[in-house]
Order: sequence, then structure tokens, then C-alpha cells
Amino acid sequence: MSYKKVYLKPGKEESLKRFHPWVFSGAIHRIEGEPEEGEVVNVYTSKNEFIAMGHFQIGSIAVRVISFLEEDVNKDFWKRKLAIAYDLRKRIGLADNPTNNTFRLVHGEGDNLPGLIIDIYDKTAVMQAHSAGMHVYRMELAEALSEVMEGRIENIYYKSETTLPYKADLGPENGFLKGGSPENIAIEYGLKFYVDWLKGQKTGFFVDQRENRALLEKYAKDRNVLNMFCYTGGFSFYAMRGGAKLVHSVDSSAKAVDLTNKNVELNFPGDPRHTAYAEDAFKYLDRMGDQYDLIILDPPAFAKHKDALRNALQGYRKLNAKAFEKIKPGGILFTFSCSQVVTKDNFRTAVFTAAAMAGRSVRILHQLTQPADHPVNIYHPEGEYLKGLVLYVE
Ligand code: SAH
Repeated sequence: MSYKKVYLKPGKEESLKRFHPWVFSGAIHRIEGEPEEGEVVNVYTSKNEFIAMGHFQIGSIAVRVISFLEEDVNKDFWKRKLAIAYDLRKRIGLADNPTNNTFRLVHGEGDNLPGLIIDIYDKTAVMQAHSAGMHVYRMELAEALSEVMEGRIENIYYKSETTLPYKADLGPENGFLKGGSPENIAIEYGLKFYVDWLKGQKTGFFVDQRENRALLEKYAKDRNVLNMFCYTGGFSFYAMRGGAKLVHSVDSSAKAVDLTNKNVELNFPGDPRHTAYAEDAFKYLDRMGDQYDLIILDPPAFAKHKDALRNALQGYRKLNAKAFEKIKPGGILFTFSCSQVVTKDNFRTAVFTAAAMAGRSVRILHQLTQPADHPVNIYHPEGEYLKGLVLYVE
């Protein structure tokens, strides 16, 4: 198969030589033919040497690399790539765990598939394209996925309406590419969750907090827990299972609070220890008392772009300062940032400043990140996005 060609400016192949998977538009000298949004192109150095192939897209990232070898991109190609991702999940004990049927199968650049996310919820895969290329190839990907997972996947839901570059005008529609079962209960380490892949955030559930939730369970015994930004209530149920005295879940979205309440009924029907509140985080933190000795702060990304960094850091400072002011002596704070543009150091500085503002003595117990099914490609360190600190507050 011959693909259209992209030629780089002299010296602009350096990052590709180090297997970084993006070609920025500024690095391109000329493009042969007129590739469409999402079309596969071959990339050549200024000396006419093949260096990579990837999906073309109009924008600052012009090519997202899908291979450093010259290959035919067809169903077999996708099958090989997906099989590698599946194999990794099997080898780390996530794909065949009787107590857990929820995991991320494909994590974009982390699985050498830039622009593609696939989360597995038992027999359903939720597929999300963040690039025009993955959108264009969605049907081939869906077929490859069914074959690679050997009858295990009965439904494939495509959910890209809000994640694709709107300028590309791809007219994406959410919908089932395979099956269509409304059955939507996922199991994470023995706990059950309704996953709303039709209307929920992301692919319907935040798979990336699994290991951090499991860690929280160990610290929950006899504590009064506040799960701020609870969404489906994930952290709350681990706290309950861990023996918490009471658990309050808070989210500004009424839908999230409904989901949380439904999930309480699935796991701990009628348990009087849990209450959920639909309220703004800052308001709740202002009005709450000092009864909590385990607090989780897992806000949405405060900065989606570099320009928003300063405001985001201020947001993290304010939010954490409120928790430090109110948490009981001997309390534990689980605090997170999922903004990609906020570095680990940025986040630490914001949290440490907040601790100092509140005048508390604080120790770091754990430094958390995303789990193994959200791997970071070492040639693409930008893929590390989730940062967390577990802090002991004297
Ligand atoms: N901790 C969750 C994921 C949190 S996602 C989990 O483990 O699954 C972030 C959540 O913050 C969303 O549910 C969103 O509705 C909520 N949110 C956003 N802004 C908020 C605010 N100002 N106050 C309270 N909740 C907010």
C-alpha cells in the first residue's frame, strides 16, 4: 500500500529517532498529495529516508505516529497492536481477575496507539477516539477488537462526540458499533458500579483511580470520610468496605449523586453510614465542620491548556488549604490532580503551600500516580497525567 508522503525540515527528525510519537506542523517541509483528516501518511526525513507512519490531522500535532516501520495499515495491523495491549493486561493480572472485570485496554500513546482509548467493562468495550485517524478507522478497530478478545466482547460502544477535534468536522455520533446490551454493571475489585457509558463522563467511569481506591480502603477503618468530587462514588465504597464509621460523598452534579446513591444500594443496601450531597466543593468545604479524618479531593482537571496553569495552581492551593484547615488532627488526605499540564512538582508546590497557609504539620505517606493499565510510554513522558499525594496531617 502506498501512502501520501510528509517530508520533514532538516534536523526535525530528531524526536522521531527517539520514538516520540508526534510530528508538529512546524517540523514539516512539504506534503505530497493532499491527505485528508485522519488519513495514514508516511513520514520522511529531509534526506528522503522513511522514519515513521501515522495519522495525519490538521492542527499543531500534524501526525500521530502509529508505527516506526513501513507497514500496511489494515485489520491485521490493528489486531497486532491490540493483541500487544491485551497481552500486557493479561501479564499484569488484570484481564483475567475474577474479582475485577474493569480495566483500560488501550491508553493512547502509552500503548503506541495515539488518539485511542478503550476501556473494558465486563462484556462491553467503550472506545473513544481523540484523533481524526482513530475515528476514520473505528470500524476496522472494532472488528479487530472483537477478534483479539475472542468472543469476550459482546458490545462495543463508540463515544467520541466530545473528544474529537470539532474543527475537523467529522460528524461523530455516539453509538454501538457492535451489540447494544443495556446491561451496565461493572465490577472493580469486588465492588459493583453502574457505568453510564451512554451519558456518563469519560468512558462512563474513572478506571484510573482503581489502585488508589484500593489503597484508601486500608486507611478507612473507624474514620469519618469525606469523598469530595465523588462522581460514581468510587472511593466511598472502598472506605465503607474498609470499615469507615461514616462516609459523605459530595459532587456538584445531581446526576453523579444519583449514581453514587444507586451504587450504595448495589453494594451496601440500606447502610446508614453513607450520605451523598449535591453541592459545590468550595461551598461544602466552607460550611462543613471538623468531623472528618479522611478526606479525598479528586477534582476534574483544573487546567486543560498551558495558559490556564496559573489559575489551576491557585485552584489546587485554595481547595487543599480548605481541607488542611478542617481535617482532624491525625487525619489523612488523599489529594489528586489529573491535569496533564500540571507537573508533579507544580502540584506538590501547590499542596505544600496550602499546608503552610493552614499552618499544619504534614508528612507524605504515599506518592500516587495512574495504574499499570494506563502505562506511560517512556518516549512520551507527557502521558503521565495523574498525580496524587497521601498526606498525614498532625
Ligand atoms: N473521584 C471520582 C472522579 C472525579 S471526576 C472517581 O473516583 O470516580 C470529577 C467530578 O467532580 C465530576 O463528577 C464533577 O461532576 C465534579 N465536579 C466538578 N466541579 C465541581 C465542583 N465545583 N464541586 C463539586 N464537584 C465538582
